[in-house]
Amino acid sequence: MTPRHLVLAVLLAAGCARTPSAVHPASQPDFLRANLDTTVSPGDDFFQYANGGWLKRNPIPASESRWGIGNVVNEQLRVNLRRINEEAAAKSASPGSDQQKIGDFWTTAMDTARAERLGVHPLDAELARIDAVRSASDALDAAFALEPLGTSAFFGMYVGQDEKASDVEAVHLYQAGLGLPERDFYFNSDTGVARVRGEYVAHLGRMLALLGRADASSRDAAARVMAFETALAKASRKLEDLRDPNLNYNRMTPAELTAKLTPSIDWGARLAGYGLRPSYVIVGQPQYLAAVDTLLRQTPVPVLQDYLRLRLVSHYASYLSRAFDSEHFHFYNQVMYGQAEPRPRWKRVLDTEGDAMGRVLGRIFVKEYFPEAAKKRYEGLVEAIRASYRDRINHLDWMSDSTKAKAEQKLAAITPKVGYPDKWKDYSALMIGRESYAANMMSAERWAFNDMISRFGKPVDRTEWDMTPQTYNAYYSASNNEIVLPAAIFAIPGVKDEQVDDAVAYGYAAAGTIGHEITHGFDDEGRQFDAAGNLKDWWTADDAAKFAARAEVLRKQFDAYEPLPGMHINGKAGLGENIADYGGILLGLDAFRKTAQYREGKPIGGLTPLQRYFLGYAIGWLTQQREASLRSALLSDVHSPAKWRVLGPLSNVPEFYEAFDVKPGQAMWRPPEARVHIW
Ligand SMILES: [Zn+2]
Repeated sequence: MTPRHLVLAVLLAAGCARTPSAVHPASQPDFLRANLDTTVSPGDDFFQYANGGWLKRNPIPASESRWGIGNVVNEQLRVNLRRINEEAAAKSASPGSDQQKIGDFWTTAMDTARAERLGVHPLDAELARIDAVRSASDALDAAFALEPLGTSAFFGMYVGQDEKASDVEAVHLYQAGLGLPERDFYFNSDTGVARVRGEYVAHLGRMLALLGRADASSRDAAARVMAFETALAKASRKLEDLRDPNLNYNRMTPAELTAKLTPSIDWGARLAGYGLRPSYVIVGQPQYLAAVDTLLRQTPVPVLQDYLRLRLVSHYASYLSRAFDSEHFHFYNQVMYGQAEPRPRWKRVLDTEGDAMGRVLGRIFVKEYFPEAAKKRYEGLVEAIRASYRDRINHLDWMSDSTKAKAEQKLAAITPKVGYPDKWKDYSALMIGRESYAANMMSAERWAFNDMISRFGKPVDRTEWDMTPQTYNAYYSASNNEIVLPAAIFAIPGVKDEQVDDAVAYGYAAAGTIGHEITHGFDDEGRQFDAAGNLKDWWTADDAAKFAARAEVLRKQFDAYEPLPGMHINGKAGLGENIADYGGILLGLDAFRKTAQYREGKPIGGLTPLQRYFLGYAIGWLTQQREASLRSALLSDVHSPAKWRVLGPLSNVPEFYEAFDVKPGQAMWRPPEARVHIW
């Protein structure tokens, strides 16, 4: 369910714009062949064979922590977005219009002299609130006041669909509030991770010094905040345990929560402060909230204050003066991800703008860059994949007829959202001005928070999108039983439509994106939700046990991969993503077999249609990352690193063996009885 990270559906438009009999012009080198590294055998390392040529020619720039085809696409997208912004800034648009918001956001964010003059002052009111804290109760007041600014101090809260009643918007409370991305960063014994911890404490100390604390006392204070966060981390669930939807669903009344777990927090009154009076809340991790309650009472007030200051400043540092921006970059980009230097400011501003008010931009973006015809074609490809899945479920030898019938019912009910929303969100209440970059970001956070709160008590709006049309990603929502595929996945970097044959389009788009997202509805987590989007078991006990046993084979395969010495992939945390990759490849292949190119079997660039299909899949993972970035991802990302998203699933697909003549003794070879068979 987690949105697929950096879905690089780059060649997709091609898949739609071409006729099956499109002929590749002989005069141009085949783009797939140009990417190959033929010094490596495909059966030993298909990732390197498929992408190595490109990766060698395209080293990671100093301003990036990873680099691949998706970054190249993003670069082009930013050029277009910059033009939209500059045009908006040059016009004197009417107050409150989209043009005014975009223009003022851009102008203010690009004004570094202004940011420098203002220093930390845009945060003055919030910092004063924290300065006034005298007790644990005051600290809670501050945390609840900061929550609408996106700081998630001590815990997180949101209004969203009830997992067991998808027609109802409910209040959810969950573990949050760590400065490092994941629990495991606080405890992992790897020396690289230990270094990150050391650097983190030094970073916290420097941030406190920037807020005016004397050097020596800032270092001590940082160590105490680290100890507090470590206690929060200890009470947090591990990444893999957050993927069990029943374990993380604990319904109770606000009064029960207070009485049983958090005597210091009167949830009824606290939520009423936001205008929320829910009859029940859904607590993700009860033991975490209980630990927060205890820690609040045991921790000295000055430590709680420093923790709150650091949560706030960390969230807004990139929009303040250079000293704050640089310190934040040093830790969160350089140390954590190995990025040597920041991206140019204009690129960072566009990325931030995408987070703050992406749907305002999206509306203009699709009008200029996404024709209605592309939407229609892409919707057709979704149906081809749905039909393939229906056949596949029908032919499964391990699933009973009753579970098959329900699976087909769920598959038929999946809603595809393609390109952009039918109904655009009303942003009229969002205020964007020229006061400061940070003020605009606070305003955007407050707008998003109020928008979320306003859903409570109303019918669920299933037309909503959680991603903007210009986002390079896609997702499956279990509560809505839908796949959401933003328009940007139609962009093509450097390869023209007519150069992309069906084999590549089906490997890349139909398998890597559509098939992947649809399979999420039937992965180890998604399969626990029914056709109506409710967490409700529709499997026979016997079929569920068979599914689990088959998935276990995939988990063990990924647990065995060791991308960095001593650091393995977390097969349990990544199981849903890895099932989705594996399923997507099978579904894309079934659909591709129905095309003229497959039937005709004519090679292009010396590569057979089947070979091109698998190479097309691998293009989606044409990316490389720095060691620090890989280390951070292994601890915090449920998606496997790119290379293993190619090696892992393909080592289970017989047609891949056939296409590249993979033999025993080669690194990717698995004996037939050791291969995965789920979908
Ligand atoms: Zn995914």
